[in-house]
This record gives sequence, C-alpha cells and structure tokens, in this order.
Amino acid sequence: MARNTGPSCRLCRREGMKLFLKGSRCIGGKCAITRREYAPGQHGQGRKKVSNYTVQLREKQKVKRLYGVLEKQFKHYFRIAERAKGVTGVMLLQLLERRLDNCIYRMNLANSRSEARQVVQHGHVYVNERRVDVPSYTVRAGEMISIKTSPPMMKHLNDTFEELKDRAIPKWIGIDAQHLKAKIITLPTREDVGFPIQEQLIVELYSK
Ligand code: SF4
Repeated sequence: MARNTGPSCRLCRREGMKLFLKGSRCIGGKCAITRREYAPGQHGQGRKKVSNYTVQLREKQKVKRLYGVLEKQFKHYFRIAERAKGVTGVMLLQLLERRLDNCIYRMNLANSRSEARQVVQHGHVYVNERRVDVPSYTVRAGEMISIKTSPPMMKHLNDTFEELKDRAIPKWIGIDAQHLKAKIITLPTREDVGFPIQEQLIVELYSK
C-alpha cells in the first residue's frame, strides 16, 4: 500500500495552509507554516501567475494530502462518486470520510490520520467483530468498529483518547468511550468534513 513518505510540513507549505498532518504537534509555534509561510523549494518565494487549472489542481492535491491518499486511489474514489446518486463532490468527500483510518482518527484514537492508518495496518481494528487491516476499507452505516489488542496498546489508545478529549467526535460516529468502540450511525454529510474544501474545483478538474 503506497503512501506519501516525505516530510509532512512540506506538504502543508506547498498548499499554503495547515493540514494538521502531525496531529496535536501541529498546534503551537513550531509549525513550519507559521515560521515559513511560502511554498518549499528553490522557487517557493517567487511570484506566480495563478491559472484556473492551478487553483483546481492545488485543491485536489490538498484533499489528497489531507486524507493521505495517492493519485490512483483518489481518482478511483472520484469515479465511484461520479456514478453514485448525489452531488459528485460531496460523494467524494463522503467516501474519503468513510475510510477506516479516517474513522479511527475521528474516534480520537490517533493523533493524525497517518497514525490512524498504522493502528489499522497493525491489525488492532475490528469491524463487526472481524479484523480489518486495510486502511482504505469503506465503512457502512450500522457497522461496529472495535479494538482488540494487547494491554500496552490498549493503554496507549486510551491515553490518546484522553489526550484528545477536547476534539469533537462527529455525530455520525456513536462512540462508546469506555470500551473504545463505535457504531457508524449514519453516513457523514458535507458538514461533517469540517475543513475548508472547495470540492467543486476537483470535479471541474477531473471533468476536463
Ligand atoms: Fe502542517 Fe502540522 Fe507541519 Fe504545521 S506542523 S506544517 S500543520 S504538518
């Protein structure tokens, strides 16, 4: 399973905004984007003409990086969204939100989506009592997500949950905080994304 392995902060600087790729470590003065508010690389500070295409491309790259998805899989999500009933851009975001690693992140069991991806890949996560170690698994309404792991890992997840207690858990995930279990109550809506995204730009880009 391919993933982006370069420095996370570089990705935020490229998109010109905080994508919170390092979770709680992104809060505070050490964030690279607050110290160097320009794109990385030799020409990062140069003056740029911004075409329509660039705006659309950057929006797509931003969303891909936010959810830790590479181009091939992102395009695959787009094609599914296109065929689904509903607004394509919204369906695309819904599919991304329904990824199992994103659910673990939203359940506050991981500081960042990349950490959540590891929790899934290492086999700690069960869906409807069956182990699922595929971060891209798409959850459905009514499914139960639970954790089965060693006591030290359970302690780690409990500590993370406690540390992130101020981060709101979206309403589409019904959390049982005592057992670190959750039920997918309903599918996420556009409002549940909670991040500034102009999904229409991505639709325009892929529709060319
Ligand atoms: Fe992005 Fe976090 Fe790095 Fe800031 S600290 S640039 S938000 S990954």
